[in-house]
Amino acid sequence: MVQKAVLIGVNKTPEGREKTVDSLEELALLSETAGATNVSMILKTVKKINPAYYLPKGMLEDIKGSILNDGADLAIIDINLSPAQERNMSEYIGVDVIDRTRLILDIFATHARTAESKYQVELAMLNYILPRLKGIGTMLSRTGAGIGTRGPGETKLETDRRKVRQRIAYIKDKLKLAERTRMLHRSSRKKHGLSTAALVGYTNSGKTTLLYALTGKGEDGENKLFATLGTKMASIYDKFSKRKVIISDTVGFIRNLPPFLMESFKATLEETANSDILIHVIDPLQKSALQKFEEVIKILVSIGAGEKKTVVVLNKIDLLTSVRVRFLKTKLEWLTGDDVIPVSAKTGDNIGMLKEKIFNDVLNIK
Ligand code: GDP
Ligand code: MG
Repeated sequence: MVQKAVLIGVNKTPEGREKTVDSLEELALLSETAGATNVSMILKTVKKINPAYYLPKGMLEDIKGSILNDGADLAIIDINLSPAQERNMSEYIGVDVIDRTRLILDIFATHARTAESKYQVELAMLNYILPRLKGIGTMLSRTGAGIGTRGPGETKLETDRRKVRQRIAYIKDKLKLAERTRMLHRSSRKKHGLSTAALVGYTNSGKTTLLYALTGKGEDGENKLFATLGTKMASIYDKFSKRKVIISDTVGFIRNLPPFLMESFKATLEETANSDILIHVIDPLQKSALQKFEEVIKILVSIGAGEKKTVVVLNKIDLLTSVRVRFLKTKLEWLTGDDVIPVSAKTGDNIGMLKEKIFNDVLNIK
């Protein structure tokens, strides 16, 4: 069953409107990624928060009206609610209410591929659910009912907090082990003269499509956020230098990712922190593309990858005029001090040039 979702954006100051709208747009993409159909969007400006429901009752009445009107069966709200607020709001408006964090968790859960990323998702979920355990028994027993209720470990959670804590400790051990295995693989790669490059960039910038374009796997990226969770890898080979570079795809970065999620996804980012160079992909058509670029840099700095040699890729040039491409390339080079390669991952434009640049860069750091 496809769930019909009403999206609710909450604006705290009139000046913050543009940001809230941007964020709501991202929420709409996330919601589609989770498999919902968006039936309407509501934007509310809230000056005073109602502690029990977050929103004032009058606004909840409006929302209830929209839900009935559009036949929605789910409300997704673009803020993080307390467990009690979530429950109260849901009771008041008559449909499930899920917040941004739960939506992201749900997407992570449905997209986790490797054992390690599954553990990471479960860990994040357990940490999220732990403070909510009291009084959500009904939600937990409805396994697989829809968005916000999917994911690993839910039936196990029906027991009690102690069991959850034990499970958390167990998963942490497993993750440590997986990390060690990954380090071993890495040192063996080094011994065999392999270099590594990690694709980074804001979500939907075209990393996965670029990985396929570079490595010739010929499959289009999906127009869905987070389609990559478990790290995917493929390699390119240069017959002149006899060098092989393994390129890894990573999970997209997104705004407002709760810090506790950041922590449990560190293992995914570890691949990035350990790679020889970075390939930072930018979609110049995204709203506030430069701001997003900077947000990604901030995350890179926080995982200790801020000083790495970086190739900046200006992607999707098939959608830009050549004058615009030249302008953006120059601007980005001024801002970053790195070389910027304009490409189209879709048409394959300049992919050869990018490959050359990658081989050059990895040769120079050795
Ligand atoms: P990721 O989230 O960074 O991995 O992004 P994806 O590779 O999944 O791409 C997101 C969307 O952008 C998909 O719909 C792609 O088809 C599209 N896309 C990627 N590269 C290009 C490009 O060079 N040109 C155009 N027009 N679309 C692209
Ligand atoms: Mg991807």
